[in-house]
Amino acid sequence: MIYTVKKVKLIAEQLRKFSTADSWVVVGQFVNLKFWLDEVKSAIKALDQHNLRFDKMYESRKKWIELHGIEIPDHCPICLGICELGSGTRKPHLPKKSPETKSDKKESKIELINSSYHFLLRCYNVKTFKRRRITR
Ligand SMILES: [Zn+2]
Repeated sequence: MIYTVKKVKLIAEQLRKFSTADSWVVVGQFVNLKFWLDEVKSAIKALDQHNLRFDKMYESRKKWIELHGIEIPDHCPICLGICELGSGTRKPHLPKKSPETKSDKKESKIELINSSYHFLLRCYNVKTFKRRRITR
C-alpha cells in the first residue's frame, strides 16, 4: 500500500473513532476542528496529485539511470541469487503503477469523506456548535 493511501486511512480511522466516542472526547476534538479538516484536505490533495508525483519520480529515476549508466547484477532465475547462471548485469527496474493502487486510492478517499461526515455529524449531535453557525 502506498504512503498516500496509508496516510488517508490513518486519518479516516482517527475520525471514525471520534464519531463513536463519548461526548467529552468529541468536544475535545471539536475544538481542534480546523486542524482535522486541514488534515482531511491535505490528504485528499495528496491522493489527487499522486499520479503527477509518480510520473515525476518515474522520469527522474529513468533519466538518472540512463545519465549515469547504472547497472545492477542480474539474478539467476534458478537460485535467485548472483551466480554464473545469471545473465550479467541489467538496468534497475523502474517503478510500476499497480492496479491495486488505483482502487486503494478511490476506496480510501470514500472512506475519508465518510469518516469526516460522521465526525461532523457526531459533533452536531453532541451540540458542540450552534445551528446558526452551520446555516451561515
Ligand atoms: Zn544460480
